[in-house]
Amino acid sequence: MIDTHVHVYPPDVIRDFEKISEREDYFSLLSHGKVHKWATVEDVIRQMDEDGIQQSWIFGFAFRDLGLCKHCNDYVIESIKKYPDRLKGLAVVPPLDPKAEEEVVRCAERGLIGVGELFPGGQGFDIDDVRQTWRLVAVTQEANMVLLFHTAEPVGHDYPGKGNVGPREAAQFCINHPEAKVIFAHFGGGLWLYELMPEMKRYLKNARYDIAALPWLYKSKILEAVNSAGIMGKFFYGSDFPILSFERYKEAINGLFEKNRDIKKLFVENVEKFLVSER
Ligand SMILES: [Zn+2]
Repeated sequence: MIDTHVHVYPPDVIRDFEKISEREDYFSLLSHGKVHKWATVEDVIRQMDEDGIQQSWIFGFAFRDLGLCKHCNDYVIESIKKYPDRLKGLAVVPPLDPKAEEEVVRCAERGLIGVGELFPGGQGFDIDDVRQTWRLVAVTQEANMVLLFHTAEPVGHDYPGKGNVGPREAAQFCINHPEAKVIFAHFGGGLWLYELMPEMKRYLKNARYDIAALPWLYKSKILEAVNSAGIMGKFFYGSDFPILSFERYKEAINGLFEKNRDIKKLFVENVEKFLVSER
């Protein structure tokens, strides 16, 4: 199994979170939320062993401040060096910062494979505005990195960090950048449904989705719907650890496994194919 959605925090960010919260509103909102949990890389490895996860993609918190992002990136770089067989890393940056590209290049050189999970709402940028995204897309595609954006449902209950970036904005991003290899977290807020529209299927060719937070958002049957739509091949398993872990996804995933082929293997294949796919 590969888990493509795992948050890690450097120990000093955990220790100083109240202080950091004073200047980072979105971080404050999430870290003071009811469901929030912290995890260091050791916590991640321990949980992976318990759940039988072979590989995880880890990333720090996408702060507004580039310095804090860099600090998280250093921790991720160090972590993947420590556990090269178990972890791959993504970088976080505030995309509108003039030095963001430089940081993406630095992280690519140190072995990180993507940029994310970025929070368009929390970090204050619009993924549907090409003037705000072209530099990020150019530098990540040049470095052969993938992108991971937080997206959420435009309907339904509210929760801290939900934000208002959903299928419409995510679709526009793909129309603006059809070549960008991008993962939309949390089912793309429902974008996957529009893969059934012929013209959208073309624009979404390089888009993928993760199932992070499924147990809080949908009934397990959503995976059957995805499967019926013929797009299970574009889905990745993402747990959103430490706030959720495999235990909570078991029912949905194993339910599908009985009737279809080995879904765990499928998730792994999907990720591997995506990484080597031609744009
Ligand atoms: Zn998210």
